[in-house]
Amino acid sequence: MSIDRFDQINPPARLLMGPGPINADPRVLRAMSAQLVGQYDPAMTGYMNETMALYREIFQTQNQWTLLIDGTSRAAIEACLVSALSPGDKVLVPVFGRFGHLLVEISQRCGAEVHTLEIPWGQVVTAKQLEDAIVKVKPKLVATVQGDTSTTVLQPLAELGEVCQKHGVLLYVDATASIVGNELLTDAWHLDAVSCGLQKCLGGPSGSGPITLSPAFVEHVRNRRHVEAGIKAEHHTDSQGAIIRSNYFDLPMILDYWGEERLNHHTEATTMLYGARECARIVLQEGLDKCIARHQLNGEALAAGLTGMGLELYGDQSNRMNNVVGVVIPAGVAGEAVRSSMLHDFCIEIGTSFGPLQGKIWRIGTMGYNARKDAVLTTLAALENVLRRAGFNTSPGRAVDAALTVYGA
Ligand SMILES: *Cc1c(COP(=O)(O)O)cnc(C)c1O
Repeated sequence: MSIDRFDQINPPARLLMGPGPINADPRVLRAMSAQLVGQYDPAMTGYMNETMALYREIFQTQNQWTLLIDGTSRAAIEACLVSALSPGDKVLVPVFGRFGHLLVEISQRCGAEVHTLEIPWGQVVTAKQLEDAIVKVKPKLVATVQGDTSTTVLQPLAELGEVCQKHGVLLYVDATASIVGNELLTDAWHLDAVSCGLQKCLGGPSGSGPITLSPAFVEHVRNRRHVEAGIKAEHHTDSQGAIIRSNYFDLPMILDYWGEERLNHHTEATTMLYGARECARIVLQEGLDKCIARHQLNGEALAAGLTGMGLELYGDQSNRMNNVVGVVIPAGVAGEAVRSSMLHDFCIEIGTSFGPLQGKIWRIGTMGYNARKDAVLTTLAALENVLRRAGFNTSPGRAVDAALTVYGA
């Protein structure tokens, strides 16, 4: 083997306009190039506490237990579900896209009794539908997705939170794709556990999963607290609940590590924490409301540009996510060839979709660092060119003009 074959990493200069990951904000990359410190260095534990405080603002919560799970968004989902669901527990999952199916699959792996509420893809669940199902199933937990990027639809949560509270059911929400691009009010909406990732509107790389947990959720998972033998001291007593089936994602142990006792668990992913901290700082310096408004403006401009060139948008537009637009692939146009030309001729990535929507829609995102006018206009101009060459009938300039109207208004 010759080491000369392996060049230094030097990725092409892509503009990532798919449903995530997106280009990381350069500030985040700079923060991530900082040197490491020890796990219990006061500088490090200080950064951990600061990160908790910053993410309380991001999640709009007073929850003390607001912290990072090491791993991608899915790690944060697993930590919440495997810690909350003991074998045999009933969980209710509305399924209206790919990520609802993921919650079902993870819950099944936890040994839970999983009940689903099947909603056609592209639609959302109503509070009435959820309440009827809760009355019937009597679940311990409802698990749902706020923004399912597979369908681009945003699930309204305020009423779902009310219904769950009324019936004494815990509510878990995957807000990976929606957070800071769309409103999310953890406390006001009575959400008990919310998890996300950095690689969507937060403008970072994947690899860290911020979560926030309500006092009720923490009490519930702490009933399953079992301290690892090798670090157990006399004052540590185990709880009555069934031991959590994952060590890495055991929330009571992770809370003990992030809490004052700093009880050893994994080694916090220092570099990812630097990145997550910078993501939150960027959003809060801009202002959370302004950040959401920026996603809304750019999402509207993108949607206007796409319809302006004669394309049809996918899904219930009254509940569309601000930050990702589904576009119906026009009849007679080869969807993958268009994506390939976008990537190879223009260095722009747009997304395909999954399951029943595969080959039927593209997904174009404008999020985080890429929720910008120039990124939207460049993407529209390129797509229009590729589509015209693919035989789609549209007149040059209409897409960009339509988008500019939105920016000008
Ligand atoms: C993108 C996305 C994820 C991503 O999970 P990873 O483990 O970070 O790949 C999870 N949930 C939703 C709703 C998403 O849109």
